[in-house]
Amino acid sequence: MDKIEHIGIAVHNLEKANVMYAALLGVEHYKIEEVASEGVRTSFFKVGESKIELLEATSKESPIAKFLAKKGEGIHHIAYAVEDIHAAMQDLAEKGFTLLNQEPKKGADNKWVAFLHPKTAGGVLVELCAERVD
Ligand code: ZN
Repeated sequence: MDKIEHIGIAVHNLEKANVMYAALLGVEHYKIEEVASEGVRTSFFKVGESKIELLEATSKESPIAKFLAKKGEGIHHIAYAVEDIHAAMQDLAEKGFTLLNQEPKKGADNKWVAFLHPKTAGGVLVELCAERVD
């Protein structure tokens, strides 16, 4: 892993959370983006070389809606930047981590992403993210 790219945080209301996080972090969010395929609306804050990604559900079937119902607001995933996402996925699968998607998919912020099941990653949903797929 190259660095922590971002930390994903589930919130009930993106507008309210944006105000609180702007006060907390001392910066405004720099974009809001909907990822229809995941049923989420996201906003991003820059914190040094990493980012905070706030996630709001856009439907009841959204994984974020289910997470909020079960656990409430809080840290949803940690995203690590990788250079070669295919190589990282293969390497981690060989080490026994369970991939939630077998091919990288288009995520928020123009990234290619893949997720590891929390059960095989110490209870934390892990996102791998890369600038491009080769
Ligand atoms: Zn993320």
